[in-house]
Amino acid sequence: MKPQDIAELLDEPACGHNHKEKSGCARPSPGAAAGGCSFDGAQIALLPIADVAHIVHGPIACAGSSWDNRGTRSSGPTLWRVGMTTDLTEQDVIMGRSEKRLFHAIKQAITDYSPAAVFVYNTCVPALIGDDVDAICKQAEERWGVPVVPVDAAGFYGTKNLGNRIAGEAMVKYVIGTREPDPVSDHLKREGVQVHDIALVGEYNIAGELWHVTPLLDELGLRILGSLSGDTRFGDVQTIHRAEVNMMVCSKAMINVARKLQDKYNTPWFEGSFYGTSDMNIALRKFAEIINDPSLTARTEALIAREEKRLNERLEPWRDRLRGKRVLLYTGGVKSWSVVAALQDLGLEVVATGTKKSTEEDKARIRDLMGADAVMIEDGNPRALLDTVANLKADILIAGGRNMYTALKARVPFLDINQEREFAYAGYAGMVELARQLALSLESPVWDAVRSPAPWATKGEV
Ligand code: SF4
Repeated sequence: MKPQDIAELLDEPACGHNHKEKSGCARPSPGAAAGGCSFDGAQIALLPIADVAHIVHGPIACAGSSWDNRGTRSSGPTLWRVGMTTDLTEQDVIMGRSEKRLFHAIKQAITDYSPAAVFVYNTCVPALIGDDVDAICKQAEERWGVPVVPVDAAGFYGTKNLGNRIAGEAMVKYVIGTREPDPVSDHLKREGVQVHDIALVGEYNIAGELWHVTPLLDELGLRILGSLSGDTRFGDVQTIHRAEVNMMVCSKAMINVARKLQDKYNTPWFEGSFYGTSDMNIALRKFAEIINDPSLTARTEALIAREEKRLNERLEPWRDRLRGKRVLLYTGGVKSWSVVAALQDLGLEVVATGTKKSTEEDKARIRDLMGADAVMIEDGNPRALLDTVANLKADILIAGGRNMYTALKARVPFLDINQEREFAYAGYAGMVELARQLALSLESPVWDAVRSPAPWATKGEV
């Protein structure tokens, strides 16, 4: 990738950070782990495309350290879970045979697995030695008649967020717009209901949470043409250009895709979230508003009324158990405000929220929800987090998996909200799961046990 291409990706007009510095958002500070390189960002953005062979062109460690670290789910093909790498060694570099290895790897993937397409991720070593990955992909595509897409995202290009954008760029450049959608399937057809096509950008079906939302979209007559990239197929991604509206589900990950699809195909887009009742309602209403079909609007309002009533009944027992509990939320991006809304819906009090990866718009939304004096935590090192828990008398820490041991060692209840989570919190049904998991964590008998003095410390006392 040429330096000017990287500069162009960093200079994203639709990104809230753009007016400040063109760094592709979160910039690692010296000595700190960057939370993933560009290759990592590109691979996690595209890996959920389930029927694609994802080949990592580089030393084996690149593939090994980033493979499937997001608990995304597929309802069909499982090919994406096969880790493929060209496993470059010093010998390949010295002898100049890394391009050959890549060509053979593509051949092997196609002959052994018959994938819908092959994605080739470039990494630092082949980028440094100047492998022409684009040319190899083109040659392989001509030879075997299967789409072979280069994703040039070597780690040293920049941050994980830049990698997300590079991945999105590759989809816009090589995949979206290369096929027309299939006819509407029978299960979506209903008397008097016009089916509208939509697409989701930045949704990864973590822990299968999109499946809480898809039945509702089906019921409304909204067909997901394709998604980037939760539970999607290569053929679906090819048709995204025909969507009537795109929803950006995560505020940062692939904002360039939504903007470019608007520029190229005139597709309107909006940013939203499926977490929490109010955001779920807003997202559904936004689809209806943009599509501007009165019958869809009526169906949407009826569905929201029904789901809210049902949800309130299901949440009532949990609300009694959770009301007034104090939460310290440390997550990033869209979740820094959308999860606040979800927790407030449940009657919990959010005492502070993390904003390290949040945009200025995210922060404005946090202030709307938590008031002008909302405590925002920029630095989430373990000591700072535990001090905040103590100072603000939080009952539970809700954060990403890497903070789990910080909380547990300090004997603080913990809930994993980030990509490694095992439970699905999106949609109305996700709210019930969130309430259940919060109550289970807060009420676990382990806290009383570990907070009491150890038996040997009280030995001799009556
Ligand atoms: S920084 Fe480079 S070498 Fe390290 S994992 Fe990323 S692509 Fe591989």
